[in-house]
Amino acid sequence: PLICLQGVVSFDNVYLRYREHLQPSVKGLSFETRSSEKIGIIGRTGSGKSSIILGLFRMVDISKGEICVDSVNISKISLPTLRSRLYCIPQDPFLFSGTMRENLDPLGEFRDNEIWSALSKVNLEGTIKSLGGLNNVVEGGGSNFSVGQRQLVCLARAVLHNPKILCIDEATANVDQDTDRQIQLTLRSAFRKSTVITIAHRIQTIMDSDRVLVMQEGEMIEFDSPENL
Ligand code: ATP
Ligand code: MG
Repeated sequence: PLICLQGVVSFDNVYLRYREHLQPSVKGLSFETRSSEKIGIIGRTGSGKSSIILGLFRMVDISKGEICVDSVNISKISLPTLRSRLYCIPQDPFLFSGTMRENLDPLGEFRDNEIWSALSKVNLEGTIKSLGGLNNVVEGGGSNFSVGQRQLVCLARAVLHNPKILCIDEATANVDQDTDRQIQLTLRSAFRKSTVITIAHRIQTIMDSDRVLVMQEGEMIEFDSPENL
């Protein structure tokens, strides 16, 4: 089925569990985004924030309830179809051992100028040039990049592919303020028309979200605009 025209994500009484004998990490979660909405997710460590995104990608078992994308139950879509329509920038992303170009454009779909333009939108042009350009080989999962830079590389990949739904699991590691601000600026301009779900560890990250979802011990305790929280 054709999905992600609107980019509406909905959870209906969802329980997520990592293994059968474990307690669910997310319990009875229900919420629905609007098209192009910017959602922030906050909550203490272990409250289930990352699990929500893993659920959306079906990387953790949906033991009860339904997750839909544009009214299509994601359990009824093949994994490659699902994962080709959503984009995720993980908390501690890792780059492939390959060239920078392969990292940004694994299927070879884009021209160099498009790739450079995406890099410039995330303010990484200079860094990549100084590291030998697009043909330079990324070593050891990107170990010569900081966590923030790896997130920016993933963000550049997302800019290129322009997904209707983008999820970002903000790094917990210390990311400098400039990188943080760059991510926010890029989100606002390049992903205007996308639904963006951002897991935030810093309060300024969610201040201009449309709505903020607050998690506590696996349950949603608030879902409202930042002004109302
Ligand atoms: P943080 O702010 O530290 O990133 P979080 O809110 O993202 O925390 P989750 O990673 O979603 O929290 O974890 C929610 C619960 O699920 C925790 O109790 C955690 O121990 C458990 N959990 C997370 N990942 C796994 C896993 N791979 N296997 C088993 N349990 C897990
Ligand atoms: Mg997490």
